[in-house]
Amino acid sequence: MSAKIAIIGSGPSGFYAADTFAKKLPGCQIDIIDRLHTPFGLVRAGVAPDHQGTKNVTRQFERTMQNDDVRFVGNVEIGRDVSYEELKDLYDIVFLAIGASLDRKLGIAGEDLKGVYGSAEFVGWYNGHPDFVDLAPKLGPKGVAIIGNGNVAIDIVRVLAKSMEEMEGSDLCVHAEDRIRATNITDFYMIGRRGAAQAAFTPSEANELGHLAHCHPVILNDDLTEVPENDDPKSLKNKEKNLEILKGLKDQDRGDKDKTLHMQFWAKPIAILGDDQVEGLKLERTELKDGRVTGTGKTFEIEVSSVISAIGYATQPFDGLPMDGTIVRNKEGAVEAGVYVSGWAKHGPQGTIPTNRKESMEMAKRAIDEFAGPSDKQGPSGLDQLLSERSVETVDFDNWKRIEQQEEHAAREGRVREKIVTF
Ligand code: NAP
Repeated sequence: MSAKIAIIGSGPSGFYAADTFAKKLPGCQIDIIDRLHTPFGLVRAGVAPDHQGTKNVTRQFERTMQNDDVRFVGNVEIGRDVSYEELKDLYDIVFLAIGASLDRKLGIAGEDLKGVYGSAEFVGWYNGHPDFVDLAPKLGPKGVAIIGNGNVAIDIVRVLAKSMEEMEGSDLCVHAEDRIRATNITDFYMIGRRGAAQAAFTPSEANELGHLAHCHPVILNDDLTEVPENDDPKSLKNKEKNLEILKGLKDQDRGDKDKTLHMQFWAKPIAILGDDQVEGLKLERTELKDGRVTGTGKTFEIEVSSVISAIGYATQPFDGLPMDGTIVRNKEGAVEAGVYVSGWAKHGPQGTIPTNRKESMEMAKRAIDEFAGPSDKQGPSGLDQLLSERSVETVDFDNWKRIEQQEEHAAREGRVREKIVTF
């Protein structure tokens, strides 16, 4: 039964689906289509450069690419080079693994000032995402506020606070490293609108904050005595572990660390201050009322030169794609006949690579179960014809392997690669 399958997006959700399709439907034709020249989505452009262990997951994806039924078709953007309608005409199954690449807005005054960044663009900048390499963020002379208590906020703190030596073995891009080190920021403010017992970050990431060579974490406005609550036992366990770790951080000696991470709990940003550029952040103390974060009316200000919001993401739609707010409209992953969605585009930006793996594999199995049987759809050959008529220069997996070789060859000492950031 030869199905023609288009997977849109080459991040983990896309690759795990491809692997499932290839194993369960031998002989099918699978195109993994990505708008970038490079595969692997968030593994390349989102996972922190000092978390190379996480990035090793790409070895599994390379094994998937050894299957002759699977192609990588890079530099093809849905809505620009081929439409959603055309995809549905060409393929039996369209599997959307398009993630969530847009920054959510804080919705407060001052958000348009110079020096305000969303985590998608900021993380994209230091990770060499072609859309953001020219961001040239304003860092310093004062501190930087990072809004949010999730793992992305912690990633950003680490990348900004670590020395060049601590980034040994990473793939932090040279343009970002030069700018970060030149500014030598000494104060980082991580802003949580709830308390330590509710923080979204996970224990291993919280633990890393205690191992920064030059940055001392200080816990503010939370005595760490609140008992966490959660209906999900795994989340509850994580929150209990978080508290233990934060207690350990609280007891740590500053030693000779010259940088400070101010972990400011129970504070929500209400305005970013400044005329043209960020000069400060106004915050309001919060409390929980009936489970909801509520302002207390008590405000205070901190002096910062930049604000980075790490408060979650929205999916970038393309023409014709049915949306439900910030995600693709779906019923348990089914979008319309023959179209499925998985990962962050399905349910919002939650979950790690392993959780999205399970989900993508299950979605792919469902798509297989519902596949009506062979059709006369053209699949890959039809796509090639369309793209050739439109003079689109695609990138295949062999092209990518050559890019990768060049990147590894160009690596500075102590770095694993120097990413090519413009194509
Ligand atoms: P997240 O885990 O959902 O955290 C978002 C944070 O922003 C929360 O603390 C949230 O507070 C806060 N927030 C939301 N809206 C806000 C507002 N208007 N004002 C102030 N604060 C606001 O999102 P994320 O950090 O972007 O991470 C996304 C996913 O990627 C998560 O599943 C994460 O675990 C995963 N990830 C994993 C790793 C890793 O495994 N190492 C690394 C990076 C990301 P509330 O809790 O009060 O809503």
